[in-house]
Amino acid sequence: MTMMKTQLTMPVLMDRGSILAPEVEIVSKMRDRTHRYTYADLGRRARRLADALTKLGVKQGDRVATFAWNGYRHLELYYALPCMGAVLHTLNLRLSAADLEYIINHAEDTVICVDDELLPLLERLAGKIPTVKHIIVMSNSGNKSSVLGPTLDYEELLEGGSEDFSWPEIDENAAMGLCYTSGTTGHPKGVMYTQRSNHLHTISGASIDCLGLSRSDVVMAVVPMFHANAWGLPYICCMMGAKQVFPGATMDGATICQLIQDEKVTFTAGVPTIWLGVMNELQNNPGKYDLSSLKTMLCGGSAPPRAMIDWFETNLGIEFVHAWGMTETSPLGCLNHLKPKMNDWSHEQRLDVKQRAGIVAPGLEIRIVDDAGNEVPHDGVAMGRLLIRGPWIASSYYKDPAPDKFPDGWLDTGDVATIDAEGYMAIADRSKDLVKSGGEWISSVDLENAIMAVPGVAEAAVIAVNHPKWQERPLACVVAKPGATVTKEEIYDYLGKNFAKWWMPDDIVFIESVPKTSVGKFDKKVLRNQFSDFTLPTAE
Ligand code: ADP
Repeated sequence: MTMMKTQLTMPVLMDRGSILAPEVEIVSKMRDRTHRYTYADLGRRARRLADALTKLGVKQGDRVATFAWNGYRHLELYYALPCMGAVLHTLNLRLSAADLEYIINHAEDTVICVDDELLPLLERLAGKIPTVKHIIVMSNSGNKSSVLGPTLDYEELLEGGSEDFSWPEIDENAAMGLCYTSGTTGHPKGVMYTQRSNHLHTISGASIDCLGLSRSDVVMAVVPMFHANAWGLPYICCMMGAKQVFPGATMDGATICQLIQDEKVTFTAGVPTIWLGVMNELQNNPGKYDLSSLKTMLCGGSAPPRAMIDWFETNLGIEFVHAWGMTETSPLGCLNHLKPKMNDWSHEQRLDVKQRAGIVAPGLEIRIVDDAGNEVPHDGVAMGRLLIRGPWIASSYYKDPAPDKFPDGWLDTGDVATIDAEGYMAIADRSKDLVKSGGEWISSVDLENAIMAVPGVAEAAVIAVNHPKWQERPLACVVAKPGATVTKEEIYDYLGKNFAKWWMPDDIVFIESVPKTSVGKFDKKVLRNQFSDFTLPTAE
């Protein structure tokens, strides 16, 4: 007996929402207005777009880049490009001109679709991106002239496309998406997703153990669509026919709270910095917003402070889902939902679990190993290099195989982690951020989380500083909340109750703010440079 072997491609998933939920809305907040249309409109416009791009000369396998905030046109590109067999290349608009130039040339993009307000950022690359034949401007004000050369207007282009365009046959191993990691060291690295990898990621991603989404949800991806595919949400929502809400360029706490209230958002996703902004807005304006529709807040990209997880769950009565992933993992890797038996555990025990990055997504496998490649115990304490494998995990970088990152068919994540007896993984650190003190490892993430729970502390980043005896020792860089006073003693008192003596930071410095990367993570490279000559009081 055999089963059919249909190709695991995207059109069958992307069309599902527009066929089964044609009346469901897609809402995009723009600077001057709110745009609304339905899945039926989305399906029609995605076909028009595909037809128009085909007429423009875009062929299967061609890389078409986007340079845009979250919104309906970006969603149309997410839909049309994979379904027509082209490659959606999402450019991170917060990158430097040099990184963007490298990425566009490395990807050999042929077309860039850009939000009109972002055009000046691209114009820095005038004369430096020779493979790009067309710039398509997404605006409502007609053609834009640009130093980049003649541009096309997105809406005019769509008018020339037909709604009757039918998706071609596509091989499941064909490329469909390209995303570069933000490149904290060296050049950015490209991850090329295939139809098959993304098809499987979308199906697993919707399941209860991952995002748990259904057609009843109203989903707001605050995570940018240029950051690891907005964590797969645009694809999963289209498959489910779930209402989608896009915040556009404004992602401050007040805007996000207002959108949750107005659109009755049930599920939202973003990095910890976004949720800190939302928490501050809610704390400063008690009773101002009705967020009773919200059921789930997904948080990934870096470790959320324990106090924040607790605050949201206790005050909003929502499930705060902590998740871990990477551009290389499409990105859903591990997600944290408690097991039913944990309902009987104490509040603090449950928080202990919630603080971990979660359980591996259905379809993937994880391991933790020491430097010799031996498995380390799953006791929640022993740290090892985190390896992961599965059908939506990268097996090489685009035009840059980097075999060391992919030993024996696994991805070496560059993260150091523990796994507990229940299977919950926790990121102890990125291997380059670990503090290596006399051969022992200190997790900067654990210390940061503890410091961020001290009243009056807004943010804390712990970095390794050179030490004559121990090679490296931790230095805590702390940002106080506006108007609050925090002392070193208060922080040491708090840490003393929770950590072994040798984990204590050798010094604590107060800084104005923690520098952030293009995707909102603590930029420890900048901090390390800033404190490279710092002499620890213990170094005498
Ligand atoms: P970049 O490398 O540019 O930061 P990614 O967005 O792909 O790009 O980042 C992946 C990395 O982010 C992971 O390897 C891990 O170090 C970190 N990360 C992601 N989620 C978490 C989390 N829940 N806790 C701690 N670190 C996380």
